[in-house]
Amino acid sequence: KGMIVSFGEMLIDFVPTESGVSLAEAPGFLKAPGGAPANVAIAFGHMLAGILKQYGVNGDGISFDQGARTALAFVTLRADGEREFMFYRNPSADMLLKPDELNIELIKSAKVFHYGSISLIVEPCRLAHLKAMEVAKEAGALLSYDPNLREPLWPSREEAKKQIMSIWDKADLIKVSDVELEFLTGNPNIDDANAMTLWRDSLKLLLVTLGEKGCRYYTKNFRGVVESFEVKAVDTTGAGDSFVGALLAKIVDDHSILEDEKRLREVLKFANACGAITTTKKGAIPALPNESEALTLFKEK
Ligand code: ATP
Repeated sequence: KGMIVSFGEMLIDFVPTESGVSLAEAPGFLKAPGGAPANVAIAFGHMLAGILKQYGVNGDGISFDQGARTALAFVTLRADGEREFMFYRNPSADMLLKPDELNIELIKSAKVFHYGSISLIVEPCRLAHLKAMEVAKEAGALLSYDPNLREPLWPSREEAKKQIMSIWDKADLIKVSDVELEFLTGNPNIDDANAMTLWRDSLKLLLVTLGEKGCRYYTKNFRGVVESFEVKAVDTTGAGDSFVGALLAKIVDDHSILEDEKRLREVLKFANACGAITTTKKGAIPALPNESEALTLFKEK
C-alpha cells in the first residue's frame, strides 16, 4: 500500500451541544479532535487500517512544541448543520513548525502529499509548508490541495486569496467547496464556466464540492457532476475532509483512476457517501465513517 502523507494542523473543535444558537447562547460544548489535514489523514487511515494511532495513522511526522499550546476552534452550528469557527491560536503549536523539524524521509516516501492553506498564514510554518511540498513533489508524490478557507484566520481577504493562489500551480489535485469557488473567483455562480477559471493544465483533477448536491469534477478530457446521498445533516464539520480522504485512499495506489471517467465517478460516489455520513454526527474525526458504513450507503443508490 502506498503512503499518503498529510501536512498541517491538528486542533480541538469545541462543538456546541445545541444547534441553531449563537456562540454566546450555546449551553455547552463537546470536545472533538479535528484540524482539516488530520481529518483527511484519519479518513483514509480509518478506512485502510482501522483506529493518529487509535485511527491507524502513523504519527511519526508529528512535532510537539515545548511552549505553545494546541489550537482550539469553537464551532457554531446553524440549524441546517452549516458551521462557523472561532479560533484560539496565540500562537498555537501548529503555527510554529519550522522547516528543520520536517521529517524529510517520511515526506519522500509519500505517494500522495495532502495539505491545506492554514499553514501558509504565518511564518515559520509557511516556509515549512513550502519546503514539504517541494520535497514531496521532487520525490514524485501526487500533490493534493484543499485550501480550506478560514477567513477569520487571515489578516485580510486579499491576503488569503493571494496566498491560497500562490501554490495553485503546484498541485495535481485540488478540491474547493462552492463557498471557496465564489471567494477565489469573486463570482457567485457555481457553474462550469466559473469553475474552469480555476483550471490549470498542471492539474489532473479539479473538484468543487456542493454540500448536499454532491460534487463537480473537471479533468483535461472530461467533466461532470456526481450527486450525493440524502442524509439528515447535523454538523458538516469534516465532510469535505472525509470526502478527500476517501478519494485519496482510492487513488493512492492507482493514479490511473484520474484518467478513467467511469472509475472516477464510482470513486467520487464513494467519497460523497463518506462526506454525507460525516454530516450526520457532531465533530470531524468522531464522525468519520469506516469503509463498511460508507459502502452500505454507497450501495443504496
Ligand atoms: P468542510 O469544510 O465542512 O469539511 P466542505 O465545505 O469542504 O466541508 P462540503 O461541500 O460541505 O465540503 O461536503 C463535502 C462532500 O460531503 C459533498 O461533496 C457531499 O458529497 C457530502 N455532503 C456534504 N453535506 C452533505 C449533505 N447535507 N447531504 C449529503 N451529502 C453531503
